[in-house]
Amino acid sequence: MSSGPNPISSRRVAVIGAGAAGLATARELRRESHSVVVFEREKQIGGLWVYTPRVEPDPLSLDPTRTIVHSSLYDSLRTNLPRECMGFSDFPFVPRPDDESRDPRRYPRHREVLAYLEDFASEFNLVEMVRFETEVVRVEPEDQKWRVKSRNSDGISGDEIFDAVVVCNGHYTEPRIARIPDSWPGKQIHSHNYRVPDPFKDEVVVVIGNFASGVDISRDIAAVAKEVHIASKTTASDTYEKLPRLDNLWLHSVIESTYEDGSVVFQNGKVVHADTIVHCTGYKYSFPFLDTNGYVNIDDNCVGPLYKHVFPPALAPGLSFIGLPWIVLQFFMFEIQSKWVASVLSGRVTLPTQDKMMEDVVAFYAKLEAMGIPKRYTHRLGESQVEYFNWIAEQCGCLPVEHWRIQEYYLGLRLCTQSDTFRDQWDDDHLIAEAYEDFAKLKQNRGS
Ligand code: FAD
Repeated sequence: MSSGPNPISSRRVAVIGAGAAGLATARELRRESHSVVVFEREKQIGGLWVYTPRVEPDPLSLDPTRTIVHSSLYDSLRTNLPRECMGFSDFPFVPRPDDESRDPRRYPRHREVLAYLEDFASEFNLVEMVRFETEVVRVEPEDQKWRVKSRNSDGISGDEIFDAVVVCNGHYTEPRIARIPDSWPGKQIHSHNYRVPDPFKDEVVVVIGNFASGVDISRDIAAVAKEVHIASKTTASDTYEKLPRLDNLWLHSVIESTYEDGSVVFQNGKVVHADTIVHCTGYKYSFPFLDTNGYVNIDDNCVGPLYKHVFPPALAPGLSFIGLPWIVLQFFMFEIQSKWVASVLSGRVTLPTQDKMMEDVVAFYAKLEAMGIPKRYTHRLGESQVEYFNWIAEQCGCLPVEHWRIQEYYLGLRLCTQSDTFRDQWDDDHLIAEAYEDFAKLKQNRGS
């Protein structure tokens, strides 16, 4: 841990977004004695976990002038990770038998995650820091500080100066689309705008993407559709398999071509006449409010330059980003990154010089390039997350990630694409036991 020479100082900090990342950040900033304003454009906390049946008017979300609907949840969604590993480290995500409205399952439905975030916000009095229905429309540096312009639901504009801005706006709202020629006549929709299967009744549907959402959505649709065909880029080119327990669901390799008569040809040579293509092809980073005079850019979905995915070297510590890495334990990461940001802002922990941070970024990019990893995977941590978390933990003097938490995560990640029963059958009771031992210790320490 590198301790700063400065006395602890309190800063005025703007946090953009009151999803899980913004809430964790607000808590850590206040713990470190900063004064915090959280800007949230919706009416409530929870971000992605606030389900809405509303969708965007443009089903592929291509129109830049469209009205944005933030959440990408579908109605049937249950978590793809067990609840023990999803929660914040000192506020376990455990069932609430005292409340009948709650979902006690290990992989609960989406409403339970929102309820958990509401409990978290209430336990730590976070809502009082949030300005609801207030959208940040511009953030720019000014004389070593940050100008934040906002607009509330009454159309009233705000223009304020902050010492620092922490960006927690989420990155599951701006869809990434697979390229399908305009000549293909069928309907197309991105999973961001998928809610329920009813519109696909009796249709032949092609789902592009075989990761968590693709797997869930194809099963959801298969319950009402005539046929569902998944196009996967992670399987061999001759893949053609009927998936278990459903008579109308097939796994293929990627789409090779599409035709004006509505046919879709897969790399395995199979041809289907489809009514709809559903793109479960992920999302892009987007910060439409941020103006750093071109210093922070998004190039092929790599946001940079960023030191350890958090601080842009020339603008640190005044500007920081929470939650960019993916294929990671999200809530744990929000917690640990925001502890780091809060302690750097107070001067308790120091960052290396701008040059040293930039050297680190350049070396990291060179390493990815040497390994043949495309730019768009810069923030995909996967296997390297433990090293990343533990490095940050050391910087700010907090505990490394628990053994059971990371083991549950890896198991969950593997199962969510390989099994359709993982949410109700499991064989990692030893990890659950380890988790609950830790939760009991936490409770004991709180009580003492
Ligand atoms: P969000 O929850 O998206 O919050 C961002 C907030 O910022 C929103 O409230 C938004 O309104 C606000 N905002 C944005 N722009 C502005 C602005 N300009 N001004 C003011 N406010 C603004 N993770 C898991 O751990 N387990 C799961 O099972 C899981 N399932 C998932 C399923 C789906 C379909 C998706 C897409 C993701 C899933 N995730 C899951 C990942 C999930 O995104 C994270 O768990 C986490 O909730 C993201 O939190 P966040 O705060 O970064 O973003």
